[in-house]
Order: sequence, then C-alpha cells, then structure tokens
Amino acid sequence: MTLDDAEAFAVAQGWARFRGEQIWRWVHDKGCRDISEMTNLSREVRDQLAERATIGSLQIAEVQSSSDGTRKLRLTTRDGQSIESVLIPDGDKTTQCISSQIGCAVDCQFCATAKMGLKRNLDAGEIVDQVYLARRLLAEAEPERRLTNLVYMGMGEPLHNYDNLIKSLRILTHDKGAGLSQRRITVSTSGLVPKLERLGGEDIRPNLAVSLNAPNDQIRDDIMPINRKWNIGKLLAALRAYPLEQRRRITFEYVLLADVNDSLVHAAQLSRLLVGIKCKVNLIPWNPHPEAPFARPADAVIEAFQDECKRLGLPTYLRTPRGDDIDAACGQLANRSNGSPIVPLRVRKTPPIPAVD
Ligand code: SAH
Ligand code: SF4
Repeated sequence: MTLDDAEAFAVAQGWARFRGEQIWRWVHDKGCRDISEMTNLSREVRDQLAERATIGSLQIAEVQSSSDGTRKLRLTTRDGQSIESVLIPDGDKTTQCISSQIGCAVDCQFCATAKMGLKRNLDAGEIVDQVYLARRLLAEAEPERRLTNLVYMGMGEPLHNYDNLIKSLRILTHDKGAGLSQRRITVSTSGLVPKLERLGGEDIRPNLAVSLNAPNDQIRDDIMPINRKWNIGKLLAALRAYPLEQRRRITFEYVLLADVNDSLVHAAQLSRLLVGIKCKVNLIPWNPHPEAPFARPADAVIEAFQDECKRLGLPTYLRTPRGDDIDAACGQLANRSNGSPIVPLRVRKTPPIPAVD
C-alpha cells in the first residue's frame, strides 16, 4: 500500500484517516512486522488490524556470506517461490541489489536469470520488502552499517514490471517511510524503449543504467534478443531525449565476453556510439555460470579495452566482481544453492515508540 492506500484502508475500516498514516509509518519507517508492537494504536484497532491485514510479503529463507563481505539473501514469497537480493558493502557505502521479477523474459544469452524464464512479476510489496528485510539483517549483523544505495539490478527486467517499479519507488522514497534518496537509487534496464520514454516523463527520478553490452547491432542481436525489437539506434535516440537531472549521467553496463565484444575495435566502436551522451561505462567482466558458453576475458584484455575507451574520451570504470564465490555477482542470480554455509538469521524486535493515545 502507498500512504494514500493505507489512509483509504483506515477509513474503510471505520477508523480515523490518520490511523492509516500511523500504521503506514510503523511499516515503512520503523520496519515493524508485528502489529502488537504498534503502541500508538488502541488495543481494539490493533486487534482488528491483525484480523484484517498482514505485514510483509517475504521471509528470509537463507543468507549466504561471501569472503568479500557480500551477502546473498534468498527470500521466499507467499506462494512459495524464491527470489534473491544481494547486500554489497563498499567502504562507507552499502548497496542493496534487488529483484523486480521472478526470472526474466528478456533472454540475454550470458545471464543466469534468463535461463529461468519469467515466472511472474513481483508486486510492489515484494519489491519493497526486500529492502526492509535487508535493513533488519544489517541492523542485527552490522549495526554500524546503514543501507545507503539501492540498485534494481537483481533478477528481472524492472521496466517489464513498470507499474510495480514506479509504486515501489514512490514507497521507498517517501519521506514518511524509508525516505531513500532518489539520487541513490538506480534502475537498470536492457533497453525497453517505450517504457524508457515513459519513465522519462515520471516525477520520480532514479538514476538510469542501461545494459548495452555490445558496440554494434550484429553482436547485440546475438547476445540480447531484445535488440531485434529496439536496436542500438532506437535505444540511443531514446536516451539522447531522456530528461536528465543536472549533474547526472546515464550508466552503460557492458559485460565483457571473451572474443565476443572485447577487442580494441569494439572499444573504439563503443566510444563512437556514445559521443554526445552524458554517460559513463561500467565494464563488467563476465561472471561465469554453468549454463552459458562464454568466458571472462584475460585481465590484460580487459585492461586494454578500458584504456582504449578512456583514451577515446569515454569515462570507463571496471566493476570488480562481488560475491562471485556465492553466485551473487551480476548475472548469477538464479536460485541455485551452491553449498556455501548458511548463516542463521536473528532478528531484533522493533524498538517501541511511546504511545500517544
Ligand atoms: N534486467 C536488467 C536488470 C538486471 S541487471 C538489466 O539487464 O539491465 C543485471 C546486469 O548484469 C546487466 O547489466 C547485465 O548485462 C549484467 N549481467 C548479466 N549476466 C551477467 C554475467 N553472467 N556476468 C556479468 N554481468 C552480467
Ligand atoms: Fe533479464 Fe537483465 Fe538478465 Fe537480460 S541481463 S536476462 S534483461 S535480468
């Protein structure tokens, strides 16, 4: 529920409208999952609420910890399916990578999620609950750390689940709820052009990342079938028209696949393509998984590719794989258990706030 939904819910129960906001704040600001902890509601309202509503859509089934501090959460939905979300500490920052769908329909050849096919969209509650469960886990495991950044880069294509994406963004950035900053949220897409155009017209403005992954249509057609529908020309035209906030730039993701898209000629083509777009490129050396016939390029090849892009004036960064020992790195999320140790979760109760009536 959005705050408006919660207020309408309160009125429909015969309660004062402000009860809706009180309840909503408990859930989205405090991360409360237990109605009996809502101490500013009368016992009667709490009892009625417990009969008529539940809080939270997901449960933590498993937490795997990587040697680099990354944690992968396997979460189960009410209908018994699993999704994955990843917490990535990086200095003072902690970024959470969240899923928007169970599986994905886009079928990129190099991606493990693609092999699952699309099972279903996540609803907005399931998207935001990943964040609330991760905040609880962090509060318990590393109280000095706070969740600072959010990326829609887990399982699924966020723009294929457009309405729930927007609803989840509105909920997570609401200043009476979790209050995450739009500037610290990034939505990543494989390039659904009509939805990109629609996103540009929204009043909510997350950062945008686009999985380009190829320097020409021939290669992109092969590794990302979506390119046959919206090719690089159409995609870049939409991005050139995308209204960017001041001091922001588009991130292009480029998965480096050995002998597919990693030559110096490809680097030059890529640099030429992106001339005139306010952007940076994140190079992601391919993370292996068993279902795909690709290889990660040698370090020297990766370095030469990056150097060539930089020499040609394209700001280009290398993403070091995080959590790849637990299959938590980019493109490895597919609900496979790899036998890594399971860390049991202990969750602290939400601290009470004083009653007001
Ligand atoms: N569906 C969206 C969001 C998922 S983000 C999108 O594709 O943008 C996942 C990112 O990981 C994408 O940039 C994708 O290109 C990249 N990726 C997928 N499989 C990968 C793999 N095996 N190794 C490295 N990166 C991968
Ligand atoms: Fe879907 Fe993104 Fe994987 Fe492509 S890379 S299959 S769009 S999750």
